[in-house]
Amino acid sequence: MTEVRAAIIPVTPFQQNCTLLWNDQTKKGAVIDPGGDLDRIRQAIAEMGITVEKIILTHGHIDHAGGAAQLKEDLGVPIEGPHEADRFLLDRLAETGQGYGIGDARAVTPDRWLNEGDTVTIGDLALDVLHCPGHSPGSVVFVSPTQRFAIVGDVLFQGSVGRTDLPGGDGKALIRSIKEKLLPLGDDVAFICGHGPTSTIGQERQTNPFLQGEGLI
Ligand SMILES: [Zn+2]
Ligand SMILES: [Zn+2]
Repeated sequence: MTEVRAAIIPVTPFQQNCTLLWNDQTKKGAVIDPGGDLDRIRQAIAEMGITVEKIILTHGHIDHAGGAAQLKEDLGVPIEGPHEADRFLLDRLAETGQGYGIGDARAVTPDRWLNEGDTVTIGDLALDVLHCPGHSPGSVVFVSPTQRFAIVGDVLFQGSVGRTDLPGGDGKALIRSIKEKLLPLGDDVAFICGHGPTSTIGQERQTNPFLQGEGLI
């Protein structure tokens, strides 16, 4: 049985949940959404004794992807994700960073764009890729069907959903992504989201005010 461990490192002024995910037996792992504050991420990698195999991105926003280019150089590992529909966001990370006072953000091009149905591996852990547009057009969610957890980026939060007022955002598409792709994963599936505390699909299905009612808003 794979012993999967996760550690959350809030980074950037947006307190984005950069996540280290690793196999506790092999110590091989991945960094998901290194938005910035790379010193803190490097420190966590060293403390846990992890060998990072790859960087994974849920979407192209600066708080998730702003540090990816530098960390890729530092670690010498590839970047996988998000979906190519977020290329326009990744291309302009440096300019966006200036606007938010994040001066060290850099544009980045992943080594692998991801599509619905793809699989991302971290050692012997396989994560299914779901394309979940709405918060951004290229947002992807990573699911472990066997370990019963997901990494959802800014698609779904405890008690809320991702904002849809940024370029490429689409409120109807977001709710459709959640209802058609995330809720069917099963109530027992726990998830780490891009901001704030973790939750489960069941808790959100029952109590998230954005997901009540039958229709798609
Ligand atoms: Zn975002
Ligand atoms: Zn975010």
